Amino acid sequence: MNLLLIGIQGSGKGTQAKMLSEKLKIPHISTGDLLRSNKEFKEEIALYINKGLLVPNELIIKLLKSRISLPDAQEGFILDGFPRTIEQAKALDKITKINKVIEIFISDEEAIKRISSRLSCQKCGAVYNTLTNPPKTPGVCALCLSPLYQRPDDNPEAIKKRLKIYHQETPLILAHYPSIKISGQQPIEKVFEDILSAIEA
Ligand code: AMP
Repeated sequence: MNLLLIGIQGSGKGTQAKMLSEKLKIPHISTGDLLRSNKEFKEEIALYINKGLLVPNELIIKLLKSRISLPDAQEGFILDGFPRTIEQAKALDKITKINKVIEIFISDEEAIKRISSRLSCQKCGAVYNTLTNPPKTPGVCALCLSPLYQRPDDNPEAIKKRLKIYHQETPLILAHYPSIKISGQQPIEKVFEDILSAIEA
């Protein structure tokens, strides 16, 4: 089962992808995480990410191709953050087959509120929210006790650019794949339930 999760920044798709990965025992592949953990092209990648811009297709497609060829992804995967453009969707079609596409939608207003109050763990990638899901000890990851940080691209200027790109590109991607729409403005467990029902349908 190769699943695609589509959703605006802050929609909770990363959180849902992690929950799905545990439940379905297939890896969560986030292209944002792939880029943030890449050492070889670290400086080049940071130039794009920190401004809220997309990294060049050539690089992201190469990284994705090599990730989905690893043994743990052979029974399926949950893709988060790719494709972000119609060109990437067409490139993906040449690499693999996607079985289900789920779109998690929230309003821009909600997205900006969530991203601005987001804290991430640099070590294990856990995500917190100072308003809705604060860490027990401020600034410390409850899972691995590492320090939490605010992503450099979670600043107002970069957020604005990321939302603009999302709204420009996503309608074309959603026209390319049949998708199931789920509201992300519900409790996390309810969103998860809706996704599971959509997958089973
Ligand atoms: P995310 O963690 O999904 O919010 O992604 C963070 C940043 O990584 C994005 O704003 C882009 O700069 C970059 N990125 C992630 N996925 C892609 C992609 N599919 N294509 C190009 N850039 C990407």
